[in-house]
Amino acid sequence: MATLPDDFRFSQGSLQDFVDCHRRFQLRYLLEVAWPAVEVEPALDFERHVRQGAAFHRLVHQHMLGLPVERLSRMVDDAADPDLSRWWRNYLEHPMDDLPPRRYPEVTLSAPVRGHRLVAKYDLVAVEPGGRAVIVDWKTAQRRTDRRTLLSRLQTTVYRYVLVQAGAHLNGGEAIAPEQVEMRYWFADFPHDPERLPYNAGRLEADAAYLQALVEDIKGRKGDADFPLTEDERRCRFCQYRSLCERGVTAGTMDEAGDAVDLEAADLDLDIDLDFDQIAEIEF
Ligand code: SF4
Repeated sequence: MATLPDDFRFSQGSLQDFVDCHRRFQLRYLLEVAWPAVEVEPALDFERHVRQGAAFHRLVHQHMLGLPVERLSRMVDDAADPDLSRWWRNYLEHPMDDLPPRRYPEVTLSAPVRGHRLVAKYDLVAVEPGGRAVIVDWKTAQRRTDRRTLLSRLQTTVYRYVLVQAGAHLNGGEAIAPEQVEMRYWFADFPHDPERLPYNAGRLEADAAYLQALVEDIKGRKGDADFPLTEDERRCRFCQYRSLCERGVTAGTMDEAGDAVDLEAADLDLDIDLDFDQIAEIEF
């Protein structure tokens, strides 16, 4: 019987897995079962989309670090990928001019929750010490996720909560107040329509209680009976364990996936087609 290791580090992904399906959490994190079913059909489309999303994130990261736009744009041209070209053009033509001046791309923060660490890996945190603190997350999904869904995602809960709990060193040594925080989702195919989610003390208190209860709940579960299969079988169509759970062999399609699959969160170790080696000599 596998139980939660004392040093287990929670993330928005593992908590979302638990909320979506207790069995998926058990299989993925406690039993560490590798079950290589394709999550979305056709597999090549899915892989290509994940690869493109990773390439876009890396481009934006390099840009945030100060690499000249011209060099990055040349790499995009060389990749000859219409989706990536469109996202990059949208990114350049719709700059977020209102972001606070101190930029922390790809920063990782963690905060304690009921004896465990809760880790948040941000695409970007932009801070004006004593002023606003904006979390930016780039999304390359084909559809724009609606506000209600974004508010319900563990990513929103965890990212805002952890920034308040652990972001003092980004804020001149002062703890970040919840009212300073905004979570902003920017959609590469909908650049005119980012989603801005402010924060406040009441929400922080509710998030703290929710996250603590969630971690306590997981810690109290031991065997298979404590990790039942989800009753919402639609989730299984996009889950790698569906044949193991006898929940069908046919994967859902990219069109059907909608908000059921967070492609940016897909844990695939795929190389990308951009030639980042050519910028390896530049140090930051
Ligand atoms: S296939 Fe369905 S029941 Fe099984 S782990 Fe995945 S979501 Fe849960």
